[in-house]
Amino acid sequence: MSSIEIADGEPLIFEKSRTGRTAANLPECDVPSIPASLLLGAENLRNNLPLPEVSELDVVRHFTHLSQRNYSIDGGFYPLGSCTMKYNPKVNEKTAGMPGFACMHPLQPEETAQGALALMYELQKMLAEICGMAAATLQPAAGAHGELLSMMMVHAYHRERGDEKRNIVIIPDSAHGTNPASAARCGFKVKGIPSNERGCVNLESLAQTVNENTAALMLTNPNTVGLFESDIQEICRLVHEAGGLVYCDGANMNAMLGITRPGDMGFDVMHFNLHKTFSTPHGGGGPGCGAVSVQPCLEPYLPTPTIKRIGKGASAVYSFDTDRPKSVGKIHSFYGAFLIAVRAYTYIRSLGAEGLREIGENAVLNANYIRARLTGHYDIAYDAKFCMHEVVLSANRQKQLNGVRALDISKRLMDYGYHPPTNYFPLIVPEALMIEPTETESKQTLDKFIDAMIQISKEAETDPELLRSAPHNTVVSRLDETAAVKNLDLRWEPLFAE
Ligand SMILES: *Cc1c(COP(=O)(O)O)cnc(C)c1O
Repeated sequence: MSSIEIADGEPLIFEKSRTGRTAANLPECDVPSIPASLLLGAENLRNNLPLPEVSELDVVRHFTHLSQRNYSIDGGFYPLGSCTMKYNPKVNEKTAGMPGFACMHPLQPEETAQGALALMYELQKMLAEICGMAAATLQPAAGAHGELLSMMMVHAYHRERGDEKRNIVIIPDSAHGTNPASAARCGFKVKGIPSNERGCVNLESLAQTVNENTAALMLTNPNTVGLFESDIQEICRLVHEAGGLVYCDGANMNAMLGITRPGDMGFDVMHFNLHKTFSTPHGGGGPGCGAVSVQPCLEPYLPTPTIKRIGKGASAVYSFDTDRPKSVGKIHSFYGAFLIAVRAYTYIRSLGAEGLREIGENAVLNANYIRARLTGHYDIAYDAKFCMHEVVLSANRQKQLNGVRALDISKRLMDYGYHPPTNYFPLIVPEALMIEPTETESKQTLDKFIDAMIQISKEAETDPELLRSAPHNTVVSRLDETAAVKNLDLRWEPLFAE
C-alpha cells in the first residue's frame, strides 16, 4: 500500500520509528525467564515483527492527532438534517458510567438489579407519556430496528384478527429509505404515494390508495422535508376507516417534544431514536436505541420480556415478564442497549417537562432563523410559512447559473470548518441541502454558519472553480466515495520489508 499524502506534514507512526526506542518501562524480571518458543511454540514466532519503535510521547501524539482528524459534535457545529446530531450533555455520560450501572451483568439475579429495572420501567413510562401512547419497549437497537418491530406487531395484529389479506404498507415518497426496507423485510408489499406541492401527504392519492388490503401507513411527522403534516388527523382517519394502522417514524420527535404528541394525532405505534432526540452520541454504527411506543391495541405484541412492577413507592418490586403469549418474541439479546436508557433517563429527568418543551421550541426557532437569513441566497425547497426543526435548501439556482452543485457547496463548507449538511436527501428535492441546527446552538454559532453559507453563495457566482475543487484545507480532498465504502481498507502496511 502506498503512503497517503498528509497535508499537515505529520509523519505516520511507522515513519517515526527509531531502532531501540520504546514506550514500555517494565521492572527487571525477577523470575527465571522462559524462552517464548517454549511458551508459544517456535512455529508461532516471527523473526521480524515490524512494529514501530516509538516513545510514549510519540504514541500519545500519534493518537491525539488522529482523534483530531475526526469531526465531532464536541468539536464544532454539525448541521446534518434528518439525523438529529445534538449536543450530548456530559452529565448523561457520568450517570451511564456509574459502576452500579456500567458494571452490571445481564444475567445477574433480578433482586440485585432493582435499580436498573426501575430505571427502564420509568423510562418506558416517560416515553409513552411524551408521545401520548400506552406502553413502550427499549429493545430495538436502532430506529430502523424499531420500524421493523413496529411492522412485526402490525403483522401480528392483523393475523390475530384473521385479517390475513392485509399485505400492503403505504409510504410517502419523502420517507427515509429505512421505512420501505423495514416493511418489505416483514413480508409486506410497499406502495408509494406522492407528496403534494406543499411537500406533504397528498390526501387524494392516499384516499385512492387505502383499501381492505392496507396493513399500515408509515409516516414521518414532521416529515423529512421538515414540515408538519397539517392534515394528520384526516390522514389517520382515512387509514383507520379502511382498517389499517398508522405508524409514526419518530426520528423527528425533537421538533415536537412537549408541544404535541403523535398518540393524540391518531398514530397507533411509533419509534423514538433515543440516540437522536434523547441525546446519546451516535454515528459509526451504534450502539443505539430505537425505543417503540404503542397504543393499547398493540400492547400484547410487544417483545418479551417486558418489565412489571408490583407495589408502589419504596416497597415496589420490579421483575421481567416473559409470560406474554401474543408477543412477537425477542428482538435483541437481553434487554437492549441499557446504558443508552440510562443516558435518556438522565436527560429527561434533568430537563423536566418544561425543559423538554423548550427543546422543541428552540429547535424549531433555530431552523427558522437559518431559513429566514438564507432566503434570497438559496432556493428554499417548499414555500411554507415556517419549517419545523430542519430546513431544506436547494442548490438548483447555483446549478443552473454555472453548474455548482449541492456537493460542491458542502465541500466548500469544510474549508470554513463546518461539517457538511445532509446532501441529496430527501430525494424529492433536487440538489437538496438539509440543515438541522438543533436547540443547543447559540445565535452566534448560527450567525457564523449562515455568514459562511452566504459567502459561499457569492463564491458560487464569482469563482465556481473554488467550490468545485474544494475542500482545500483537509487531510485528503475529494475521495471516491463509493470505493471508500465498498473497499474500506483500514490496515496500515509497514513500508519496510520483512
Ligand atoms: C435516522 C432516521 C431513521 C433510522 O434510524 P437509525 O437509528 O439510523 O436506524 C429513520 N427515519 C428517519 C426519518 C431518520 O432520520
